[in-house]
Amino acid sequence: MPTIVCPECSTTNRVPEDRLADDPKCGRCGARLFQGKPVILTASNFDRHASAELPLLVDFWAEWCGPCKMMAPQFEAAARSLEPHVRLGKLDTEAEQQIAGRYGIRSIPTMILFKAGREVGRTSGAMTASQITAWVRSQSRD
Ligand SMILES: [Zn+2]
Repeated sequence: MPTIVCPECSTTNRVPEDRLADDPKCGRCGARLFQGKPVILTASNFDRHASAELPLLVDFWAEWCGPCKMMAPQFEAAARSLEPHVRLGKLDTEAEQQIAGRYGIRSIPTMILFKAGREVGRTSGAMTASQITAWVRSQSRD
């Protein structure tokens, strides 16, 4: 049963695999666990989302980065196609420099795929929604 972190209140929920596609709600606050868009990650919720059993794909970006801005709608579209099997989140590397530093982010956009707290894949450079989706699926193959 994968653990999934609520995008609104950061409570960790347990949802059976076969119920993932039934629009599950948070047991604490009632919010939809999947909202078809990336979660905004900060120092206060990053570790919870990264350590969930549901894979987390993080877009490390910054306001001044042109390619990051170009990729933003592609990343949103990828969230719609990858949920509910992968959580997508965005981390502003200017606002959250400690987290960016912890993962040694040197160029942006960089995407890192986490599973249960471990980094399982990393790629740099802007991608289209279908490239993002294909990359994630190639990384999570066992
Ligand atoms: Zn909640």
